[in-house]
Amino acid sequence: MEENINNNVAQPAIDSKIPEGPVAEKWTNYKAHQKLVNPANKRRLDIIVVGTGLAGASAAATLGEMGFKVLNFCIQDSPRRAHSIAAQGGINAAKNYQNDGDSVYRLFYDTVKGGDYRAREANVYRLAEVSNNIIDQCVAQGVPFAREYGGLLANRSFGGAQVSRTFYAKGQTGQQLLLGAYSSLNRQIKMGNVKSYNRYEMHDVVIIDGRARGIIARNLVTGELERFAAHAVVIATGGYGNTYFLSTNAMACNVSAAMACYRKGAYFANPAYVQIHPTCIPRHGDKQSKLTLMSESLRNDGRIWVPKSIDDAKRLQNGEIKGSDIPEEERDYYLERRYPAFGNLVPRDVASRAAKERCDKGYGVNNTGQAVFLDFSEAINRLGIDVVRQRYGNLFDMYEEITDVNPGELANEINGVKYYNPMMIYPAIHYTMGGIWVDYELQTSVKGLFAIGECNFSDHGANRLGASALMQGLADGYFVLPYTIQNYLSDQITVPRFSTDLPEFEEAEERVQADLDHLMNIHGNRSVDSIHKELGNIMWDYVGMGRTKQSLETALEKIKELRKEFETNLFVPGTQEGMNIELDKAFRLRDFITMGELIAYDALNREESCGGHFREEHQTEEGEAKRDDENFFYVSCWKYNGDDEKAPTLLKEPLHYEAIKVQTRNYKN
Ligand SMILES: Cc1cc2nc3c(=O)[nH]c(=O)nc-3n(C[C@H](O)[C@H](O)[C@H](O)COP(=O)(O)OP(=O)(O)OC[C@H]3O[C@@H](n4cnc5c(N)ncnc54)[C@H](O)[C@@H]3O)c2cc1C
Repeated sequence: MEENINNNVAQPAIDSKIPEGPVAEKWTNYKAHQKLVNPANKRRLDIIVVGTGLAGASAAATLGEMGFKVLNFCIQDSPRRAHSIAAQGGINAAKNYQNDGDSVYRLFYDTVKGGDYRAREANVYRLAEVSNNIIDQCVAQGVPFAREYGGLLANRSFGGAQVSRTFYAKGQTGQQLLLGAYSSLNRQIKMGNVKSYNRYEMHDVVIIDGRARGIIARNLVTGELERFAAHAVVIATGGYGNTYFLSTNAMACNVSAAMACYRKGAYFANPAYVQIHPTCIPRHGDKQSKLTLMSESLRNDGRIWVPKSIDDAKRLQNGEIKGSDIPEEERDYYLERRYPAFGNLVPRDVASRAAKERCDKGYGVNNTGQAVFLDFSEAINRLGIDVVRQRYGNLFDMYEEITDVNPGELANEINGVKYYNPMMIYPAIHYTMGGIWVDYELQTSVKGLFAIGECNFSDHGANRLGASALMQGLADGYFVLPYTIQNYLSDQITVPRFSTDLPEFEEAEERVQADLDHLMNIHGNRSVDSIHKELGNIMWDYVGMGRTKQSLETALEKIKELRKEFETNLFVPGTQEGMNIELDKAFRLRDFITMGELIAYDALNREESCGGHFREEHQTEEGEAKRDDENFFYVSCWKYNGDDEKAPTLLKEPLHYEAIKVQTRNYKN
């Protein structure tokens, strides 16, 4: 396998397709291009948008508004139930309402730096530029962002930034933004510009003469396969975090549509860049199927600590004392100690690794030794419980419902200082920076196939800053794709609608049917979840927060064995007709297995540490990520080789930075 990768390194590099010239001008060119498309022709073009999360719903609504005929798919029973609804903390924009020195350039700089200089510079600049439009658009839709007493929109801070630029709606920002996008989408549905297909799962993309011209989707209620044709296909199907089984993602999040595109020639970029979020409720036992995020916004006022003394840690682990029994002077606020300039608001990868480091050294605070405290005592003493609850009330309630501990409750008083129950948190899989490779126009390596939102790789490099996923999803959906897709469509105006009777549709449907038949006919002994859980354990243990050459090679061997187990010992009850949730999950698990391998291949190839990808062999003396810009200053693009069992081929897109000096990240001063 290693040989294979080494051979592949010699493959020709992909053109980055970033237009020449200073970054700011590039985007202006696209705005100008928009005027060249004749509006009278738009109505004749059909676009399939797969996904109704923030990226998909905003794109479908905007394309509908522009006069295209949109077919919009989701696997849930309503577009409103897409995973985006779970987003809690907020959305970034460079409005500088706080007058604290923010600017488009500063948001651009923070995002590139946060991504450990592995993002495409020009894309991030464009993202920062359109960030402000998103807030205006959403306010116009009626999204109830939090406001200050005087009525102005409020902001809070998220990791990796020293300004307050995060707009929020309590701890339900994703829900409110999705309701805004959904109301626009509904208007287009009513006007007949968008046709909505709920409970439909895309199983394959149909390619005709090298261009994406349709999809095969299964009606999840009847079990029937159906064919849909269009002039272009956009996937907005979210991230692949559930490869790890346990994650903060919604249970239905999957990578199958992206894998279908990958198998049909779309490159998969930077799969190893997986984000592990520092503030999740720790795992309890081995029966769990879901982890819960405690929003990063809590780090605005919550302070993260473990005891200074190993004896106190042991007593906490044995349940002899509680966090509130340990006085201020005995607490190690390790983020504030190690990173004085950013303190508790360091980026997620840095905070997660620091928590793991403390727990690995024995300072963990719960019975498994895998938890640290997130404490609001200082904030409650300073601001009062009412103010703190106003900011984080629903998150406190969520924590209490799950753990039966109320973080706003007074628990102890030592030497006149009041101590409240701290939360316990631990890092967990949360977001995936890698995804389907797209060029500057968000087109994949297959013509006419576009990818937006979390399912593409575009803007976050090796680590995403908090509150930037919603920004990217809505930038892609409202402001980037609706313009750039027209560059592709402008010479498609004379192309008539495609018949779904074409042999390419026939062939694609037959292949999907054969895959479904195969899954139903294995008749083995293992449930989908038991195999998925095993995959998750392999991924977490060997391809998790700390990776080594040896652990990654072990992972690849173990995943291969697991694939065999899946292919020969899977049991899917029921029939293909009608609803069969186990069959849906089996189809997705097949793709998670291929995805798991892809993550491991990429992590093995990338012999450096950057952002969320931490190769233990490559760290500084202080345990920080050590990049190798000389050899790895590129986007890894993986090309499918015709069979899931064959190793993929690595292609490289070199990164070009013009506006920002590439340097070592520093959050200490
Ligand atoms: C708990 C949590 C909290 C978060 N909080 C924040 C936050 O505060 N700020 C922030 O910026 N980011 C946050 N994020 C990240 C952010 O929520 C996601 O990155 C973002 O919502 C992804 O949006 P999306 O539109 O790309 O995909 P999704 O919202 O995942 O939507 C995917 C869509 O694709 C559809 N789909 C999937 N597969 C198929 C298929 N095969 N066929 C048909 N349809 C399909 C689904 O039905 C769905 O409609 C959070 C993430 C989590 C897990």
